Amino acid sequence: MRVLFVTDLHGCVWKYDRLFEAAQDFRADVVINCGDMLPKGGDLFAQDKFIAGYLDAHFAQFDSAGIYYLCYLGNDDLGIFDKVFKKVCNEHSFVICLAQRRFEVGGFEFVGLNWVVDYPFRLKDRCRMDTKDYVFEEQLGTGLLSTSNGWKEIEDWFSYAKTLPTIKDELDRLVRPQNMARSIYVTHMPPYKLGLDECSDGSKVGSKAIYNFLLEYQPKLSLHGHVHESPEASGRWYAKLGDTICIQPGQLVPFTYVTIDLDTIKFDRHTEAYKRAR
Ligand SMILES: [Zn+2]
Repeated sequence: MRVLFVTDLHGCVWKYDRLFEAAQDFRADVVINCGDMLPKGGDLFAQDKFIAGYLDAHFAQFDSAGIYYLCYLGNDDLGIFDKVFKKVCNEHSFVICLAQRRFEVGGFEFVGLNWVVDYPFRLKDRCRMDTKDYVFEEQLGTGLLSTSNGWKEIEDWFSYAKTLPTIKDELDRLVRPQNMARSIYVTHMPPYKLGLDECSDGSKVGSKAIYNFLLEYQPKLSLHGHVHESPEASGRWYAKLGDTICIQPGQLVPFTYVTIDLDTIKFDRHTEAYKRAR
C-alpha cells in the first residue's frame, strides 16, 4: 500500500496540480490531504468558490485514476463550508471526507480528526481546549465563528470554549479501529514534545491529548500538519512515539509531501520548487 501524504495546501493551485502528477508517479493507492485545503488570503466567505471551481475537478482526476483521496478541511477553512465540502467529496467515489470518521482501504484503517488546540488567532470554528486543565494563550481579539450571515463575535471566548468538548473528548469519541497495529491516525493538529509542533519564534504549540492518545493506543502511524514551519524550526519532520511513527512534513514555499510504503514503512519527504504542471 502506497500512500502520498500532504497537508496545508491553502488553495495553492500549482501544488494541487503537482500533487496529482506526484501521486501518479509514485503509483499511490491513497492520497491523504490533512486539512487547510482552501485559500487563506482575501475573503474567507468566498472559500466555497474554490471547492466548486477547483477541488471538484481535482477530485475527479483521482476518481478516474482510481486513487483514494482522504481529506478534510482545517482550522483556516470556514466551518460553514463543511456541508458543501462533504457533498462534493461524496460525488466522487474515491474521495472520502475523513473528518471524525474511520475509513478502511487495503487492509489499513484511517481515522481522521480536524479539531485543533486553541490559539491566539480569532477564527475559532475548529478550536478546542486540549484537555480540561488547558491554559489559554493571550488572544489577538474577540473570538469569531463563521455563520451564513457573516461573523458571529464571541466576546468571552474562554467561557464559550469551556462549554465545548476538549481535544481529549473528541479523540475518545472517535470510532476505534479494529486493529491499531494496522491503523493510521490523521489529525491536523500535531502532538506536543516531539519537535513536530514548533513555530518560528520557538514556541511549541502541540497537543498533549494527541500525544497521550498515541502513546496509549499505539497506531502504526500518525500524520499531522498545521504548523507549516515546524520541520525547519525544529529540524525534525518525523518522530517515534513508542512504536508509532508520527509524521509532520510542513508546508512552506516549495511543494512539500511525504511518500510512504505502508508494507515496508519506508517513508521519504520531498520538497519541490515551483514547477508548472505537465
Ligand atoms: Zn492549520
